[in-house]
Amino acid sequence: MGSAVIHYSAAATSDRGRKRSSNEDAFGFSVEHGAYLVCDGMGGAAAGEVASALAVDEMMSLLKGRAADAPLPETAEQAISTANEAIFQRAQNNTHLSGMGTTLVALVADGDRAWMLNVGDSRGYRLRDGQLEQITVDHSLVEEQVRSGRMDQAEALRSPLRNVITRALGTQPTVTPDVFPLDIEPGDLFLLCSDGLTRELSDDLLESMLRLDRALEELCSRLTDAANKAGGHDNITCLLVRAEG
Ligand code: CA
Repeated sequence: MGSAVIHYSAAATSDRGRKRSSNEDAFGFSVEHGAYLVCDGMGGAAAGEVASALAVDEMMSLLKGRAADAPLPETAEQAISTANEAIFQRAQNNTHLSGMGTTLVALVADGDRAWMLNVGDSRGYRLRDGQLEQITVDHSLVEEQVRSGRMDQAEALRSPLRNVITRALGTQPTVTPDVFPLDIEPGDLFLLCSDGLTRELSDDLLESMLRLDRALEELCSRLTDAANKAGGHDNITCLLVRAEG
């Protein structure tokens, strides 16, 4: 058991952006239950909205309902699996929703222990001592090409294939998230966000904005405004979680 008593606070915003007619992102969080989620839905018509909302609802209800002694990362993985099945089944049973899916980035925290989990290209970052670090690794075609040395970051940003993700919730009968165990230090600030934020703002800019000593709600608004000013090509969702000693 950890010795440090850590308290969390959080704030989030989700914005349609300037180009899209609807918002297919969704988020949910409960400081009391240590659960924080961002999802970015995809699919024709309104299917993306259905998928992301279903993922958040299913996962939040399982994480809020967990027994006090249930291990947190395993409960989160089980919640992802259950959400995946719910979206997959709904898509199978309704041709209008066929092929829908959603990305997910989640932070689950209990005292000074936390885990980040992701599927797809929504990202999780940590700002510690003024340095921003991307914790998650995108499940995307361009990220795989960058990792294998076939493409550099600049090419990845311009690639016509940059939207292709290689893992999603709801598109296959099963899904496996990546899980990143984290040690928490007082002062850590976590950002969970959809690609509508990270496509518009560089990591350097995110870092300089997150360093500002402002309320989380104001930081969320500033990030959203900056992404809209940069074009707002996609839905923009930011969820900030601060750990305090
Ligand atoms: Ca998106």
